[in-house]
Amino acid sequence: MSERAVLHVRGRVLAGPDDVRDELWVVGGRITYDRPAGARDVRTVDGWALPGLVDAHCHVGLGPHGPVDAGTAEKQALTDRDTGTLLLRDAGSPSDTRWIDEREDLPKIIRAGRHIARTRRYIRGFAHEIEPEDLVAYVAQEARRGDGWVKLVGDWIDRDLGDLAPTWPREAVEAGIAEAHRLGARVTAHCFAEDSLQDLVEAGIDCVEHATGLTAELIPLFAERGVAIVPTLVNIATFPKLADGGEAKFPRWSAHMRRLYERRYDTVRDAHDAGIPVFVGTDAGGTLPHGLVAAEVAELVTAGLPATDALAATTWAARAWLGRPGLDEGASADLVVYETDPRADVRVLAAPRRIVLNGRVVG
Ligand SMILES: [Zn+2]
Repeated sequence: MSERAVLHVRGRVLAGPDDVRDELWVVGGRITYDRPAGARDVRTVDGWALPGLVDAHCHVGLGPHGPVDAGTAEKQALTDRDTGTLLLRDAGSPSDTRWIDEREDLPKIIRAGRHIARTRRYIRGFAHEIEPEDLVAYVAQEARRGDGWVKLVGDWIDRDLGDLAPTWPREAVEAGIAEAHRLGARVTAHCFAEDSLQDLVEAGIDCVEHATGLTAELIPLFAERGVAIVPTLVNIATFPKLADGGEAKFPRWSAHMRRLYERRYDTVRDAHDAGIPVFVGTDAGGTLPHGLVAAEVAELVTAGLPATDALAATTWAARAWLGRPGLDEGASADLVVYETDPRADVRVLAAPRRIVLNGRVVG
């Protein structure tokens, strides 16, 4: 296919929360707001257009037991694409998925290398499991492997303690985060509990995943430092089941997980209300299936975010945060068209009418 057809998207083009236009064109795979002169073979798509959705926390090439083969990784990426999720921040994968970058039919990926965890303090087969003295070297290695992010596991169950506990001493995370920043990478960390957060934020972390342990004391600190959170409420929904499974051996941990679960909506809403940037992530791969962005947006609305803010968390704001364009003049045409206004009811995200990736209609 040498020539892509010209596409004419008509209706309401939601180029920003306060930037609504009547139409756009796709010419040569790129967005333009200038009607192309003398275009033949114009295909028209009607509806409400959004930039391709962002899943800011998912895993491609990762399954329940660690790395998966390329065919499975491809299916994961296609599942995301077919739900309109066209930009992924991969929050840690043991697989080499660079080959996806050559595929115009698959979503764009921003990688965080492979997770870096403390020895025996994460799901087996997922992470580099190391000791604090090796953290700086592993951060440097994964910063070079990734696309501008490094992923730490900031807390996990300590089996001796029988509860969640921070995995790294303060000096180690300070040195690790400084090294990532020196190499031009941002750092994020998996954190369920309260205790791991202060050290990480004061050490200069850029983002926290899950962040269920945010308290009224910590929220102003996050807000002041501009540290983003990616709650992954569709993952937090599994906490009661995890708690049931661990009850007999680790009752304290189980009770802790249930408390974090019970206050999850208040935590996210309070964080948002305080000005903490909140982004959509599903934690797909590993244990959860891909394609859950619409469900996560609906969860953010249930938590109390206004619909436009929940949409921004997977579109305009998420793309700006990741340094990728939205529906900008000249940008790669990655967009999704819906039958009704997603600002009126975000549930329409579950049923895209048309999906356009790199200027081609793919769904
Ligand atoms: Zn994850």
